[in-house]
Amino acid sequence: MDFLTLFAIYVVVVLICIVLVCKYSGQQQTPFNALLNNIGKVVGPFTPKWLQTFSQRTLHKLFHQRNNMFIYLHVLLEGAVYAEFTYEVFGFCREMDTTLSSLSVPYVLLAIKTFFFYLCIKRDPGTVTKKKVSGQLHIYPYDGRLFQPGVSCPTCQLVKPARSKHCRVCNRCVQRFDHHCVWVNNCIGAQNTRYFLLYLFSVCAMAGDIALLTGDMLLHAVLRSGLLTASYIDDYGQQQPAGPLFVVQHLFLTFPRIVFMLGFLIFVFFLLAGYALFHSYLALVNQTANEWYKSRGYVCQHCHPTAPADLPTDHTKRYYYSRGLLPNLGEIFFPPLPVQKKHN
Ligand SMILES: [Zn+2]
Ligand SMILES: [Zn+2]
Repeated sequence: MDFLTLFAIYVVVVLICIVLVCKYSGQQQTPFNALLNNIGKVVGPFTPKWLQTFSQRTLHKLFHQRNNMFIYLHVLLEGAVYAEFTYEVFGFCREMDTTLSSLSVPYVLLAIKTFFFYLCIKRDPGTVTKKKVSGQLHIYPYDGRLFQPGVSCPTCQLVKPARSKHCRVCNRCVQRFDHHCVWVNNCIGAQNTRYFLLYLFSVCAMAGDIALLTGDMLLHAVLRSGLLTASYIDDYGQQQPAGPLFVVQHLFLTFPRIVFMLGFLIFVFFLLAGYALFHSYLALVNQTANEWYKSRGYVCQHCHPTAPADLPTDHTKRYYYSRGLLPNLGEIFFPPLPVQKKHN
């Protein structure tokens, strides 16, 4: 297979990964979503009815009902990366005298990540139930902007506690609702936001660490090959230095799977690092992704004195639930439990 074909396959797969993650990482409105809808509209009239119904049903089942598809995909991708790392990179690194302790770090991180991943999947995010709702109503006051007192969920038929939201995928109201995450097939709410944050950080650490070890291995391979100082004779008989493109081509052709994995890891690392930072920010200001999304366009007069007067402005209302950095973090890691009614 020549270099250009391999490179084209590589770019296509990376693009598919980007598209998949953008579409299904729990955000409802993404550019890809709009693109998919438009493609559906254009292709729709030329598609047989049975195929349309089938694809609609499959998409609905996959993305609007709880299912473990993304958990399996997650495990599959992780398995592929670890298999490649163990099968090829590990041996090369040992040859290059990388210590066993630094090579064991990815496996330790895998164990830590799996633990938090499991907790994200299994722990109840804080479902609003008939039994608990009276206690859950007293956890947060209503801010009078996003959350109004006395509003009931039409599906659950229960009064909505402040900061709760009905998850359409799980068909339940969740206390301090953040978002529904397809990768863990669970809502992220009051009781599992801490595990979700730790899970995000451990995945980033895992991807970052394997990427560094792999990058180091490839760098050593290039240095050993002497390609940096190599040269070739061009069509005019002139001697030319090999250059970076030549080095990249050499790496692609010599270690195709390893280079492919490294590209995927770098992509995953930056994507998840951005996502983890966003969720850390939300934790520090005591806001959920749901509240952040609904507060867009809500301008703080204190931070933006020149904001147009017709925009809603009030810093205290935008960060209504913030009680200072440490108490906010405390609330994530030691979430307040529903007040239990005393029976006499
Ligand atoms: Zn509900
Ligand atoms: Zn949900």
